[in-house]
Amino acid sequence: MTDILIVGAGPAGLTAALYACRAGKSVLVLEKETFGGQITHSPKVENYPGIAQMSGTLFADQLLEQALAQGAEVEMETVTAVRRDGDTFVVQTEGEPYRAKAVVLATGSHHRQLGLEGENELVGEGVSYCAVCDGAFYQGKNVAVIGGGNTALQEAVLLSESCAHVTLVQNLPVFTGEEKLLEILRARDNVSFITGTVVKALRGGDQLRSIVLESDGETTDFPVDGIFVAIGQEPENEPFRDLVPLTEQGYFDVDESCVTDMPGVFVAGDCRRKGVRQITTATADGAAAAIAACRYIDSI
Ligand SMILES: Cc1cc2nc3c(=O)[nH]c(=O)nc-3n(C[C@H](O)[C@H](O)[C@H](O)COP(=O)(O)OP(=O)(O)OC[C@H]3O[C@@H](n4cnc5c(N)ncnc54)[C@H](O)[C@@H]3O)c2cc1C
Repeated sequence: MTDILIVGAGPAGLTAALYACRAGKSVLVLEKETFGGQITHSPKVENYPGIAQMSGTLFADQLLEQALAQGAEVEMETVTAVRRDGDTFVVQTEGEPYRAKAVVLATGSHHRQLGLEGENELVGEGVSYCAVCDGAFYQGKNVAVIGGGNTALQEAVLLSESCAHVTLVQNLPVFTGEEKLLEILRARDNVSFITGTVVKALRGGDQLRSIVLESDGETTDFPVDGIFVAIGQEPENEPFRDLVPLTEQGYFDVDESCVTDMPGVFVAGDCRRKGVRQITTATADGAAAAIAACRYIDSI
């Protein structure tokens, strides 16, 4: 039996593994897709303290190596359920079940995509899902923010501070985010608004040059240096709904202690309710969850 089983090998899960191994616990990390998590989609990370610039893949590779060097075991498995069985947990996967004394859920989330042809290939080449992460690459340039809720409006506020022009493109006839944010944006002369319009296509080969907009059956080609897609995030917490309560948006309803009401279950990273979803906050959670899990095991 493993001391601590970690679901998800993103920055949060791998940091939890690192801390738990260094505290002398046996650790198994199960990952369903990509070791390293979301950050592997980022060609350039420039806001992790102490690292001036690094690709997301290299960051993920180094974190994985660091966790393995400390003794963590990793397996490619999709976790489908976790249930308590006496003092321990049974972790169901599509293969064999595993047993652990404590579980850290570090399942992350992913940005909803437009679902357009070429979208994945253009990530980092004009298509972004995070103004905090990538806004600095578009200083003095013309960008569009796709979406109309609070996240889209917040991204537009941030981008309008450094970009030449920001155009908000919303599919609905109105913006659904807070009026206060709209007021800030309306007062800026480098921000414009387009409603009732959908993005139908991305153009530009290996670098985004323009987007095709459709409104009332008419299409137009709209030149941009970059787009920021802000149409929501999708956490991956459904399989654990019975173990830890979820917010309306599907995040684990747990604060920065990373401790849940179920003794022995901890959460870490983008999968939980929080204001800032970044590598810094994910790794901070990983450390907090691992230390709390070690204390729990020492107390049973
Ligand atoms: C394109 C892009 C660029 C970004 N750029 C930056 C940046 O420059 N700076 C920055 O700080 N942040 C950036 N971010 C955000 C950053 O990547 C995330 O905040 C961070 O990865 C969150 O880490 P996490 O471990 O909580 O979740 P994730 O990275 O999402 O990892 C969770 C992992 O859990 C796995 N998983 C989920 N469910 C299961 C299951 N049932 N069984 C097994 N495995 C499961 C997933 O496959 C995933 O690998 C960027 C994100 C994207 C998408």
